[in-house]
Amino acid sequence: MVDKACRNCHLITEGNVCPRCKSTDLSDDFSGIVIILDPENSQIAKMMNVDRRGRYALRVR
Ligand SMILES: [Zn+2]
Repeated sequence: MVDKACRNCHLITEGNVCPRCKSTDLSDDFSGIVIILDPENSQIAKMMNVDRRGRYALRVR
């Protein structure tokens, strides 16, 4: 399985559909991974507008 990042919300997934926003616009060309474990209390999560746990790409091309 190849990890891919959603171009829409930056969530990293192993599937072909983003489980967060249901977008199929995924890219395997991304850089920087942020792991959000506690979106309620994470400044990074707020900065990235993230509301669920998961791995997110900082940059998706
Ligand atoms: Zn998405």
